[in-house]
Amino acid sequence: MDYLPNSKRYDGMIYNRVGNSGLKLPAISLGLWHNFGGKDSYENGRAMVRRAFDLGITHFDLANNYGPPPGSAEETFGKILKQDFLGYRDEMIISTKAGYYMWPGPYGDYGSKKYLVASLDQSLKRMGLDYVDIFYHHRPDPNTPLDETMAALDLIVRQGKALYVGISNYNAEETKRAIAILKEQKTPFVIHQAEYSMLDRWVEAELLPVLSEEGAGCIAFTPLAQGLLTNKYLAGFPLDSRAAKENTFLNKNDVTPEVLSKVTQLDRLATERGQSLAQMSLSWVLRDKVVTSALIGASKVSQIEENIAALEKLQFSTDELERINDILEI
Ligand code: NDP
Repeated sequence: MDYLPNSKRYDGMIYNRVGNSGLKLPAISLGLWHNFGGKDSYENGRAMVRRAFDLGITHFDLANNYGPPPGSAEETFGKILKQDFLGYRDEMIISTKAGYYMWPGPYGDYGSKKYLVASLDQSLKRMGLDYVDIFYHHRPDPNTPLDETMAALDLIVRQGKALYVGISNYNAEETKRAIAILKEQKTPFVIHQAEYSMLDRWVEAELLPVLSEEGAGCIAFTPLAQGLLTNKYLAGFPLDSRAAKENTFLNKNDVTPEVLSKVTQLDRLATERGQSLAQMSLSWVLRDKVVTSALIGASKVSQIEENIAALEKLQFSTDELERINDILEI
């Protein structure tokens, strides 16, 4: 059946400006790392993208290697775009990345100009796009000069293959250097994609102050700690959960008694606030204005619906924030 987006899709979403740039992102964005690969249900992925767009999610995040197999999430997304979103490209912010292993030989990994330019060309073909909105270098490369990697990002923008560029998984010092190089090239750095959740707060002391000072934004990935910061593991391992599946980045061993004890206490606090734990976890990463968007994943439409409702309660009292710190032992 033809897809007609919800005409009220912009009413309930909050759009935040990315640093001092002209770009705005929805407070909640959808990532296609899991559940959009060649072995996943196409119709489920398609339903999630449609529902997300209907709820005001305009930003979809990919990478060359998402799948499995690598590349297949971009293919799936390209198919969805072609089937359902032909008239809506200008209402979407689509990002991809290169930086991890993608193809054999010396040119398919890390941060050379050769790899980044070739990889983005492949990504554009897989998605059937002329350009992406944001292109990221996915992780720092210890062996390629940063000048070369940033020159590749600059070239890609000048070629019109990406409108904005960003970096991911760079530490604060590397980020400062990258920003300085891009400034010289007059391709301003816009966004850093960094891991941030109640269970991983490294960005707070180190990265966020740098981004704030430089007028850049942060998009927080794995804000639910891959599902740990929901109530789903409190009563065991649901068969369809990420931790119960083979070959994922979350194992049953990650669900330790210590994590479960924190999650149980956080879940109680969330209930007191009138939110689910997933919702409170998302509200919490969005409390600092430098965090432009929380980049969630989902395996079901219902999770996207639940998570978006986090926006109904973004405020925290000082007491609540202190109680969260106590639970997290910070
Ligand atoms: P999350 O921390 O949001 O975890 C998402 C998973 O949690 C879902 O797939 C689902 O897993 C579970 N979940 C989500 N909502 C709910 C809910 N309401 N109730 C119960 N369970 C829920 O993020 P991801 O780990 O998926 O990462 C998000 C995105 O971040 C990626 O798609 C990617 O775009 C980006 N990313 C970037 C990285 C980088 O290096 N730059 C690294 C990692 C991610 P299930 O139902 O299967 O258990």
